[in-house]
Amino acid sequence: MTTIADRLSIAQSRINQAAQNCSRLPSDISLLAVSKTKPINDIIAAYEAGQRQFGENYVQEGETKITALAADYPDIEWHFIGPLQSNKTKIVAEHFDWMHTVSRDKIAQRLNDQRPDSKLPLNVCIQVNISQEDSKSGVDANQVATLALTISQLPNLTLRGLMAIPTATDNTQLQQQEFANLKVLYDQLKLQYPSIDTLSMGMSGDMDIAIANGSTMVRIGSAIFGER
Ligand SMILES: *Cc1c(COP(=O)(O)O)cnc(C)c1O
Repeated sequence: MTTIADRLSIAQSRINQAAQNCSRLPSDISLLAVSKTKPINDIIAAYEAGQRQFGENYVQEGETKITALAADYPDIEWHFIGPLQSNKTKIVAEHFDWMHTVSRDKIAQRLNDQRPDSKLPLNVCIQVNISQEDSKSGVDANQVATLALTISQLPNLTLRGLMAIPTATDNTQLQQQEFANLKVLYDQLKLQYPSIDTLSMGMSGDMDIAIANGSTMVRIGSAIFGER
């Protein structure tokens, strides 16, 4: 039987190999374990295998897990990576350490206002729509600069970088192009904001292409926890 610890170690080897293939340091790419829909015991199994960064997509589910694990596992870093409605921002502001999917001024403003004083600033990535599908969330590339300026002026948020989900397709050339486009935007923005160090792209199916195109954080769910 393959355990969560085995699959974590396989995912880490894939990161190491992908990094080596493009002459990058594996330590420059962090592994975010996406535990959405999976039980708390799976998170604990990954934790015991050394994993500390976890990603959740659903506000309520995330809050429940964070609250349940807070006392015994205080060094888990929690990342919110799902779509967020403005009436749910308070839960993210109060519980999570990172938020990857900011795509509107209003959401940024609310997260800032609702971040408790007792916590460090919320680490924020702007989600960019790099895909050809209209349904995908995120700001268009030409709106990134304006949103970045807004976020950079909010004291309870720290602008860390960009996040994207590519077109769901078997066309790896298209995905490669989309990742490469995001990397160009990222490099431009990084020149203006020294706090930027995170390019959140790559999932179980496309992590190798994402790493070849500059990803610094891959978000891996099914390859670690199994199919959902
Ligand atoms: C579910 C999800 C992931 C993980 O996807 P897998 O294909 O299971 O690795 C990564 N990022 C986001 C935004 C997700 O919603």
